[in-house]
Amino acid sequence: MSYKLILFDLDETLYDGNTGLWSAIKENINQYMIQKLHIPAADVRALREELFNQYGTTMRGLAETRNLDKIDYLKFVHDIPIDEFLAPDPELRTLLEKYPVRKVIFTNADASHAERVMRTLKVRDLFDDKIVDIMTIDPLCKPMPEAFEIARQKTGLLPAGEIVFIDDSLANVLSAHQLGYQVIWLNKKNQPVENPEFPVIQNIYQLEQCLPLPNGNKSC
Ligand SMILES: [Mg+2]
Repeated sequence: MSYKLILFDLDETLYDGNTGLWSAIKENINQYMIQKLHIPAADVRALREELFNQYGTTMRGLAETRNLDKIDYLKFVHDIPIDEFLAPDPELRTLLEKYPVRKVIFTNADASHAERVMRTLKVRDLFDDKIVDIMTIDPLCKPMPEAFEIARQKTGLLPAGEIVFIDDSLANVLSAHQLGYQVIWLNKKNQPVENPEFPVIQNIYQLEQCLPLPNGNKSC
């Protein structure tokens, strides 16, 4: 297994699912729908799930079905004191430092949120300056194959087989796998999966179990 680039998802991939950060973002999405789009509070949860399932992100669903100012939306939903949810993560830093290959964030969130998360975790310098964010791939989003193609174009057009893609979303991982990427799924909720065709770990700290170091031979 050789590779020249690792594409990392951001939210609940670089940090654990139980930090409360993602829940806070979801609550801001609810509030945006209520306060700015005047959707009745009682309808928000079901509508958000429906849009997410149909369009891949709530933002894309709102943009397709309503008059949405995407910049305003992204600013509002990510307006969160991130250091109340995340802290510097030396264990993550040590792990990432073992992989001296290009590392790029590929996220359905926006770049400024990704910047703040990486800086709070104290791993910003270990990743490319360039972030493939939701505006880079707009109006697309993961898991759409075209979004992966843009990510590949923006990161030097490596063959998909030379790229490792890591995400906690099974839909995103399945899409990348189909496109020929080497994939690793962070199955953080321990969902039952039968004979997955790719490595599955529960959290990022287990990465060494399935991604060989450039100087090692460990594999799942
Ligand atoms: Mg994620």
